[in-house]
This record gives sequence, structure tokens and C-alpha cells, in this order.
Amino acid sequence: MQQLVFATNNAHKLEEVKAKIGDKVQLLSLNTIGCYDDIPETGSTFHQNASIKSHYIYNKYHLNCFGDDSGLEIDALSGDPGVYSARYAGEHGNHAANNQKVLAGLKGITNRSARFKTVISLLWNGSEYFFEGTVEGTIRHELSGAAGFGYDPIFQPDGYKITFAEMTMAEKNSISHRAIAVEKLQNFLNSQAL
Ligand code: IMP
Repeated sequence: MQQLVFATNNAHKLEEVKAKIGDKVQLLSLNTIGCYDDIPETGSTFHQNASIKSHYIYNKYHLNCFGDDSGLEIDALSGDPGVYSARYAGEHGNHAANNQKVLAGLKGITNRSARFKTVISLLWNGSEYFFEGTVEGTIRHELSGAAGFGYDPIFQPDGYKITFAEMTMAEKNSISHRAIAVEKLQNFLNSQAL
């Protein structure tokens, strides 16, 4: 079976992706290949950051691999937090502070439209392929729900009356930006002679 490195050590992401493409390729995490480097996310777009990750691994290990980058874009905040989603309030991964900063920034603003985006950069047999997933929605006026992570408690996807944080993991994973991008990656791998 062909090997494919997913440039992440996030166990949750790895399992989600394994469930979709684990029977096609042998999916390896960064730890599995002995990579403990902190890959810098210095890009100004999701595409750039995803590409930085995949190229970093390819250049160092010469293995087929993919990197991903995700975030929330809010129209009334000119697309912020965008690539700064994880560290919007300063400290990396402080989700409570990030949500409070978004709610404060949108105080009194009626345009609450936003979207989650994921971009995957795949380096496959020497060529780069991008796969994108987007979920449109709105930002609530207050937090709702306890499941999920990040901006889930304030994001209500279009067509639903509940936030991502009020959905079961299975329900969110069936419609999420990440799921859409990974499905495109899955379709690509299915089209390849493996
Ligand atoms: P990553 O690139 O997938 O690690 O995502 C970067 C940041 O975007 C996370 O730390 C979260 O703040 C935000 N984010 C990405 N995907 C989600 C999601 O599905 N729900 C909530 N927040 C997310």
C-alpha cells in the first residue's frame, strides 16, 4: 500500500481523515515518520500555509504528503480572523478568548455572515494539488453548545438552527469544511492507480 504523510500531529484530525482514506493509502502522521519540528505557518492565505506544510515535509523526507490549513472568515471583519484563527486573541489555541474577541468585534453589527474554510495541499508524485472545503453560515450573538472546539459555539451553518457546537461529532463531520476538502482528496486518490 502506498504511504501518504498527513502533516499533522492532531490525533482528532488524523482519525477523521483515516476513516475516509485509510483503506486506500497508509496514512502516516508527523510523529510516525519521526518529525517533531514546529513547521512555521508564515503564509498570508490558507493556500500558502497548507503548501508550506506539504513542501516542508516533501523537501525533508521525499514522501508523498499533504498539509492543511483552516479558519474562519467573517465578512464584517474584512475576512478576519482568517489565517490568524488559532491565535486571534494572542495566545495560540485560546478558544474562549478568540470567541470573545469575535463577539466584541461584531457588537452592534447586523451583518453576521461568515464561513469556515479548509485548504489541503497535496504533493503527489511530484505535483501539487489543492482541495478546498467551505461552509457558509452566520455568527451568533452569544455562545451556544459545548461540543467541538474553536469557534464552533458561535458558528451556525446555513440551513440549521443550531451551532456546530450543538451538533454531534458525526453530524458536524458530515457537513464540515474539513469533511468537504477531505472528500475531494478521497475522490482524487480513488481516481489514481494505487
Ligand atoms: P487548523 O488550521 O485546522 O488547525 O485550524 C486553525 C484554527 O481555525 C483553529 O485553531 C480554530 O480556531 C479554527 N477552526 C478550524 N476549523 C474549525 C472548526 O471546525 N471549528 C471551529 N474552529 C475551527
